[in-house]
Amino acid sequence: MRKPFIAGNWKMNTNSATAVALAAGLVKELESVETVDVAVCPPFVYLQSVAAALSASNIAMGAQDVYFEGNGAFTGEISCEMLKDCSCSYVILGHSERRHVIGETDELINKKLKAAIAGGLMPIFCVGELLEERDGGKTMEVVESQVRKGLEGLCEERIQAVTIAYEPVWAIGTGRTATPEQAQEVHAMIRGLLEKMFDKTIAESLRIQYGGSAKPGNTAELMAQPDVDGLLVGGASLKVDDFAQMVKTVA
Ligand code: PEP
Repeated sequence: MRKPFIAGNWKMNTNSATAVALAAGLVKELESVETVDVAVCPPFVYLQSVAAALSASNIAMGAQDVYFEGNGAFTGEISCEMLKDCSCSYVILGHSERRHVIGETDELINKKLKAAIAGGLMPIFCVGELLEERDGGKTMEVVESQVRKGLEGLCEERIQAVTIAYEPVWAIGTGRTATPEQAQEVHAMIRGLLEKMFDKTIAESLRIQYGGSAKPGNTAELMAQPDVDGLLVGGASLKVDDFAQMVKTVA
């Protein structure tokens, strides 16, 4: 039985006051929720103050990226150890904005994934097709390739730390959500692929989140799909009421 996992990706939003207020609001709203794993992923610079607001709560924290090297002359980058030091448990990797805006490759994402797991972080590994790839009938091919390349070289023991997030790029921040059937189709393919790459036990235990304009109004129908184990939420995670409502719907 996979425990549902809802994570909020705050992206490059909030400031020092609103980040703490958002975290504090969620702590209050979600204090009795035990049946869902919840995490928020603030910008790097607010990790420590958000960690303080979340302390003694059931809400975990993640970062939005990490570098694969341990330390040294990598100006502007952040290491796994630094994230652990700021109380992060999770790290988002391979988000479509990092792939398509910043230009990250599958190879770089794979290095980051391995470093994150070795460094004691649990990656939320994002995959998803562009609109033209979906329209061209290439969704399964693209997502399979991203999963294979991203997880390449990970042993069975290490893969347990990973959550996969299927995020069709055309649905991110657009208000256009994938239908529950579209999400389920890709999630089922990913689970089948995990069985081929690893084994049935791993395929059945790994959580696969859906992301892409998830909001209170579509949470129940998305989560009703057998292979949708949670949500990675962007825009709606910036509002206490919306995000809390989504978690409560799942709980
Ligand atoms: C995301 O950025 O991971 C995301 C799913 O964003 P939104 O919910 O705003 O589409």
